[in-house]
Amino acid sequence: MFRRMLIANRGEIAMRIFRCCQELDIETVLAYSSEDADSLPAQFATKTVCIGPANPEQSYLNADSIIAAAKAYKCDAIHPGYGFLSENADFAKLCEENGIAFVGPTSEMIRGMGDKQSARSLMEKSGVPVVPGSTGILSGEDEAVKVAAKIGYPVLIKATAGGGGRGMRIARDEGEIKKAYHEAQAEAQAAFGNGSMYLEKLIENPRHIEVQILGDTKGHIIHLGERDCSMQRRNQKLLEEAPAANLSDKLRENIRRAAVKAAKAVGYVSAGTVEFVLDKEGHFYFIEMNTRVQVEHPVTEMVTGVDIIKEQIRIAAGLELAYRQSDIKIYGHAIECRINAEDPENNNMPSPGKIKFVHFPGGKDVRVESAVFSGSEISPYYDSMIAKIIVKGEGRLSAIRKMRVALMELTVSGVKTNADFMYLLMHNEDYVAGHVDTGFLAKNSEAILKWDKESRKASKK
Ligand code: ADP
Repeated sequence: MFRRMLIANRGEIAMRIFRCCQELDIETVLAYSSEDADSLPAQFATKTVCIGPANPEQSYLNADSIIAAAKAYKCDAIHPGYGFLSENADFAKLCEENGIAFVGPTSEMIRGMGDKQSARSLMEKSGVPVVPGSTGILSGEDEAVKVAAKIGYPVLIKATAGGGGRGMRIARDEGEIKKAYHEAQAEAQAAFGNGSMYLEKLIENPRHIEVQILGDTKGHIIHLGERDCSMQRRNQKLLEEAPAANLSDKLRENIRRAAVKAAKAVGYVSAGTVEFVLDKEGHFYFIEMNTRVQVEHPVTEMVTGVDIIKEQIRIAAGLELAYRQSDIKIYGHAIECRINAEDPENNNMPSPGKIKFVHFPGGKDVRVESAVFSGSEISPYYDSMIAKIIVKGEGRLSAIRKMRVALMELTVSGVKTNADFMYLLMHNEDYVAGHVDTGFLAKNSEAILKWDKESRKASKK
């Protein structure tokens, strides 16, 4: 097992990794930006090292500075968390070249899956269903027009290097496609330095279903069931559940099997997630594989009892998976709400500033992942997520009821948050009935916000 881990991240995921290392008797070195000098993980880590100023380009994305810190502090492993350098193949390679274990798959696997078009081709060859679309990279807008005419509108123009919902545009007819192509390409070029594009048929308001995978260096690959992450705003997840509601046993099993097939096709090692879209007719299609731990991994942990970060670290240390597929049983239903410092009444604009007071919910099967405390500062430099509230119930309805109580108890003052919105969402009839798809929030958010206190009270059954 490792002796000393460099945590190359911040916020709640840095705390999550810190706690896990502590349990495993691994010393921690927190790599922090000057902005995060007083952060919670900086107060707990065995050692701390400043890797640069607030601007992430110069700190959390500064591979050379992070490697230098790991070497200076004699760390034998680096955990990248999610975001930042977690899916950066060059960074993983740099770790490999410096003899430091990267807690994740090999740089080659990251590169292979990071290029969404080549991942798509590989999956197609391996018999995993992919969304109908282009073969290979589009040579330009003329080819986009030709392919779209063949598969039929609407289509989604996507960047092969895309991530975080960026570099994607919908074209509903031939009149829109050139503009969509140029906008998506310009966005991808600016964000990822790569303007290679492909296109897929747009599946109208699908569900987003993803499967958690664990693979070790001994060739074992298992799944930990699926999550439904359909509650998205501008392609960003806001709420996740495990298992996915309202799926037939057969469909659920088929999706899980396809995910394992996808992971096997690349000989996947580490924790990873295979993402699918599911259409209204029950057809599902691979969209991408994330080669890191996901924000929403706790819902899977809640229903399986498996500590995904612990397994990820054990795998990186060359140990065999502690579980076989037959050991994995799903109990109950878990929901995660992402609490963001943002203003729901002002287009969800970030709301940074000082948290004057925070009280987190508690109780049986209520879990909070956060690094904020009363008096802490929410920096405008980073993601606005300040906490994840995760609950488990015997079934979906009891999980929803538990989440209502948890959100009622959650108190944050000093910055605006989406907590009230999430509370209202937990009372929305369609949500409660499990009628979710990726178009749900765009369609219903305004009505949910307008829902007044009286109807809130009336619905508290
Ligand atoms: P990113 O890496 O930027 O998150 P993804 O490929 O994972 O991009 O897509 C993000 C979201 O966009 C998905 O969760 C899904 O909601 C939607 N999406 C992606 N591809 C399609 C598609 N072909 N049809 C409909 N929705 C899609």
